[in-house]
Amino acid sequence: MDVVVIGGGYAGLSCLLSLRRLCPEARLHLVDGRVSHVKLTRLHQTLRRPFSEIVCPFALLAEKFGFSFIQAEIDMPETCLADWQAAKALPLPQGDLPFDYLVIATGARTPPLPRGKSSLTREDLLSGAGEQAFQKISRREGGCPMEVAVVGGGATGLQFLFELRSVAAEENWPVHLHLVDLLPRLLPGYPEGFDLYLRKRFRELDIDYLPGASYLGQEDGGISLQSAGEHVAMTLACDLVLLFPGVAAVPRLFETNRYGQVLDEGLPLENIYAAGDCSHFLSKGLNAQTAQAALRKGALVAENIAHAQVGRRRKAYLYREIGYFISLGSGDGLGWLGWRGNLLSGTAAFAIKEALETQYDLFLRGIDSYLK
Ligand SMILES: Cc1cc2nc3c(=O)[nH]c(=O)nc-3n(C[C@H](O)[C@H](O)[C@H](O)COP(=O)(O)OP(=O)(O)OC[C@H]3O[C@@H](n4cnc5c(N)ncnc54)[C@H](O)[C@@H]3O)c2cc1C
Repeated sequence: MDVVVIGGGYAGLSCLLSLRRLCPEARLHLVDGRVSHVKLTRLHQTLRRPFSEIVCPFALLAEKFGFSFIQAEIDMPETCLADWQAAKALPLPQGDLPFDYLVIATGARTPPLPRGKSSLTREDLLSGAGEQAFQKISRREGGCPMEVAVVGGGATGLQFLFELRSVAAEENWPVHLHLVDLLPRLLPGYPEGFDLYLRKRFRELDIDYLPGASYLGQEDGGISLQSAGEHVAMTLACDLVLLFPGVAAVPRLFETNRYGQVLDEGLPLENIYAAGDCSHFLSKGLNAQTAQAALRKGALVAENIAHAQVGRRRKAYLYREIGYFISLGSGDGLGWLGWRGNLLSGTAAFAIKEALETQYDLFLRGIDSYLK
């Protein structure tokens, strides 16, 4: 059996590593536009450690887990999946790659936004552009601090905001932080206690919080904003903008049935599955764009491919969120565990978040301790 996975993020690797265990004889192939897997959940840590420490070359993973790696960015026009299903082959520049099963796990990216020369997005940071920008902050001299705005109060924006605040305090970087968010409340999908805790930390750490403000673009020395309700335009002076307005599935969101098979005009494609941030499973399972869901979807798709191969029934995706944690700089964190009312903050939450990162590091070494 040949299985081709497009995208070596959390979902793609979870699928490949599970398949290696379930089907030792299968020929597995990974296709990714990059040369290395990036541990995205550690991206904010690149403020204090080199980018190279949060990546893992696909060539090393391929050797360790016995799959082939092909570096290629796959173009996926709207109608391609029916053709690929019919041919049971993925067209590559070097020729067709035949498959028995294809898994699409291409993730999500920052949607296009108006930007200026001193702005950084998640994609800029993924190409290693962060180090230079953060050095500028560290080298800033004189009395007036560098004004830095984080746009987007989701998990990514918050983790960067607090990590920057934490590093700045430790290293004596002269920086003043602003958080601009479109919504009137932080992390609205989570208990109100999250919002209250974050606002308390903003006051304690002198972070300027601008809720209900829409980012319009960057001008010389500032960003243009519009307040949501009153349609009042304003300019916020800042030297660096970190743009984290959320992500959108790439190349698009693939709707799947409850087993992970991609739906084409409402009908499942027998041999093509999707998993991770680019997928929406029509089932009761967790569809959030998180590593937690991506790992479970990838593993379930692997199990369903293994079952289909031997004529066993496929399993529906029913994974329920068991907790969620974000880091808020060194020694601080926020999250819930077990049930949503069970809020944890401070060092306890930080320690759990660190333990989750270690669990993923171990997973990449072949030790799978995830609840499915
Ligand atoms: C700073 C930050 C912190 C986060 N913290 C958390 C957290 O604490 N907890 C949590 O659960 N989630 C967190 N997330 C979200 C989590 O990282 C994502 O949900 C997760 O990465 C999704 O995994 P994925 O496999 O779907 O996609 P990705 O990990 O994005 O991987 C997609 C892969 O597909 C490849 N690819 C894309 N398009 C193509 C193409 N056309 N051809 C070939 N290859 C392609 C990419 O190169 C990439 O390797 C965080 C995200 C960020 C940015």
